[in-house]
Amino acid sequence: MREGGAAAAGRKNGVLSPCAACKLLRRRCAQDCVFAPYFPADEPHKFANVHKVFGASNVNKMLQELGEQQRSDAVSSMVYEANARIRDPVYGCVGAISSLQQQVDSLRAQLAVAQAELVQLRMREPNSSTHLASSNHQANVGESLWSC
Ligand SMILES: [Zn+2]
Repeated sequence: MREGGAAAAGRKNGVLSPCAACKLLRRRCAQDCVFAPYFPADEPHKFANVHKVFGASNVNKMLQELGEQQRSDAVSSMVYEANARIRDPVYGCVGAISSLQQQVDSLRAQLAVAQAELVQLRMREPNSSTHLASSNHQANVGESLWSC
């Protein structure tokens, strides 16, 4: 919606200034250009990267196959993937995903160690019969967070 508004404003000012896609492809930007709402002229690199990675005709095809309410999300996804692919030509955004997955795994392991230490410390605490009930409760809360 926001992109649509910006594109409409851009068109009001100039004599049909072409969108970033049509400018790069050196073609006339039609009134119903499928790229125009998502690739405004003031963000030329956005389309350049998507074009380099996916190819303009594939992007065109993908957008045509989608309903208008889904196109903006599809464009965000393609822009993200294209930028990641240019940064990392081998793994693309899979590289970022797997590195984050490793971080999650390592943080989960750290959390498990910390929770085990916590339980041990609480058990060593003298006259901890009243504390024990609440610490058990907290451990359960921690577990239920990870099980979902
Ligand atoms: Zn256009």
